[in-house]
Amino acid sequence: MTPAGRFAPSPSGELHVGNLRTALLAWLFARSTGRGFLLRVEDLDRARAGAEAEQLRDLAAIGVTWGGAVVRQTERTHHYTEAIGQLTAAGLTYECFCTRREIQEAPSAPHAPQGAYPGTCRQLSGAELEFKRSRRPAAIRLRASLTEWTVRDELQGAFTGVVDDFVLRRNDGVTAYNLAVVVDDAEQGIDQVVRGDDLLPSTPRQAYLASLLGLPVPFYAHVPLVVNSDGARLAKRDGAVTLGELAGAGVGVGAVREKILGSLGLPGSLEEALAAFDPSSLPREPWVWAA
Ligand code: GLU
Repeated sequence: MTPAGRFAPSPSGELHVGNLRTALLAWLFARSTGRGFLLRVEDLDRARAGAEAEQLRDLAAIGVTWGGAVVRQTERTHHYTEAIGQLTAAGLTYECFCTRREIQEAPSAPHAPQGAYPGTCRQLSGAELEFKRSRRPAAIRLRASLTEWTVRDELQGAFTGVVDDFVLRRNDGVTAYNLAVVVDDAEQGIDQVVRGDDLLPSTPRQAYLASLLGLPVPFYAHVPLVVNSDGARLAKRDGAVTLGELAGAGVGVGAVREKILGSLGLPGSLEEALAAFDPSSLPREPWVWAA
């Protein structure tokens, strides 16, 4: 398998310039290091009919090229089931019946980091388990044996973050993103993960999970997001932000690409940008979008 980078959008709507910038960065990282580039549609949750086709259309228009067939997470359940089976066989999972509210209201365990699952269902007796099973379907959680983990990030350096007994499969049967992403990256030969820095806090959980599954931990680069003039993460309501909307406002796809590459300190054509690409000189601050 050729080592690869990837872009893994959730098909919840059209991509905006912030998403397209992250996709271009992931592509530049991969191509400048001789890697392949793959697209994975993360449709376990938040999928809107038609969004995938729009996203692929816009990625192609901006110049992102990818190899092989597009992979969809909803078609990969057997891989996730297998991984959860492997963890369960090693005693590394347990059933959890807590509602969101119960978790919020539970006193947190001593020394537990803020926001960590309080461990309510970690040690249920056989009778408790039987009773709870009769009332509510269970989620599956990881039985973590530590509370933090450190990852190395190309742009952010060493990052230590919380690891708790996070959910692997929700109680509606849907695989959790943290499990799917780890299984998919490894299984697809993806050894370079470039994505928005909003995902950095989840990365220690993912790297720890990869190590438990005996999978390689990828190279990570978490890139700054694009923000609006108030400093908030760019969103659809911030005016013309998709390729379609920008075209309607008279800004063609070539101009959008130039603007994005310019924000990265790179020349406006993809070929030149690839030749000039140097991760160490990328901006470390969010980019303020003004149409
Ligand atoms: N599907 C996630 C998102 O669109 C990205 C996950 C990832 O790149 O690991 O936010």
